Amino acid sequence: MKTPFHVMLIPTLGCPSRCRYCWSSDVNSPRMDIDTIGDVVEWLKGLRDNQVTFTFHGGEPLLAGADFYRKALPMLSEGLSFLDPAFAIQTNLWLMTPEVAEVFAQYNVPVGSSIDGPKEINDLQRGEGYFDKTLDGYRIAKEHGLDVRFICTFTSESVEKKEEIVRFFMENGLTLKLHPALPSLRGSEPEKYALAPEKFGELLVYLLDMSLEHFGEIEIMNINDLCRCVFTRHGNVCTFADCMGSTFAVGPDGSIYPCYRFVGMPEYVMGHVRERPSVEELMSSGAGRKMLAFKEYVDQNCAECRHIKYCRGGCPYNAIAPADGEIRGVDPHCPAYSRIFDEITERLDAEMFDSPQMDMYGFGSKRKKKQKPGIMSLIQDMAFK
Ligand code: SF4
Ligand code: SF4
Repeated sequence: MKTPFHVMLIPTLGCPSRCRYCWSSDVNSPRMDIDTIGDVVEWLKGLRDNQVTFTFHGGEPLLAGADFYRKALPMLSEGLSFLDPAFAIQTNLWLMTPEVAEVFAQYNVPVGSSIDGPKEINDLQRGEGYFDKTLDGYRIAKEHGLDVRFICTFTSESVEKKEEIVRFFMENGLTLKLHPALPSLRGSEPEKYALAPEKFGELLVYLLDMSLEHFGEIEIMNINDLCRCVFTRHGNVCTFADCMGSTFAVGPDGSIYPCYRFVGMPEYVMGHVRERPSVEELMSSGAGRKMLAFKEYVDQNCAECRHIKYCRGGCPYNAIAPADGEIRGVDPHCPAYSRIFDEITERLDAEMFDSPQMDMYGFGSKRKKKQKPGIMSLIQDMAFK
């Protein structure tokens, strides 16, 4: 099976909100011209022959406006129909309008948005008025039948209120995807809001417990993904897979980068859609070589780790960008990954040992009749979604 191909389209790095820990917005960013989408279509025609997913990301991608999506979505969908394109968008939803929602509904665009918990916690981190504007957009999206999920960024401050935050998502029936605040490389105090790896590890274990204790009441996407990684022994989200060569981002001016996180950093430009570069050409650029060097570094430095197959050293951006472009280590969140992968592995092993199949061979005969939901329940639940 071929690796799924993912192209992130960044119509602008501009954003109307002012989240305190943000690391990716740029008020002077240009907007993507629709001709760049035409170049993306021509570039991919010669590049791929299997399914491609496009994610509109930013900055704030809705700044591009309804007209942009009215043109861009059919251009990509029809121009690349042989690639069976799928779409997604990551937006704060402030600029969601019925016009935009109608276009997204027509092309089945699921929406990822961001909210950090109840209004007081969210607006403290993301700025006054954020919560209400996002919920207004959420209502419009739901009225048009769009699937909306929320990234919840935990910072060094909000992690202390994790109980309140989880309760908020549960009571409002919202699906949560956890994101640890990263060092803001473009801010004056890069580490202020960043979530320390040890705290992140504790948070993941807490969320695993919450997922099991409130099984069926709350869905925490990362926890399910992590369980699936361990069970299948295969990374199924970009952080836990080799993203190099199968993920690219196109910035507002058509420059190609390894991922949206690098957009706007000139030293990570790999090529330009106008030039229709091949994957080999992109990977032989300075940024491409760096991504491949990270892969080799992981093969050597994580060789003894029992989770290497599905962890793959975490996210290369997290490892490379804060180290001034040098590869001095793996993703600094390694202690968090190893903590949660250990926890899941141990619980899964215990469940397997206690399973009915083992009973057939005379093991676990004192097993209780009704068991609490476990790791397998989370994995099986995902299989039916
Ligand atoms: S650089 Fe990190 S965020 Fe970007 S695709 Fe790779 S793993 Fe994902
Ligand atoms: S948990 Fe740490 S040591 Fe293990 S593969 Fe992941 S990054 Fe490497």
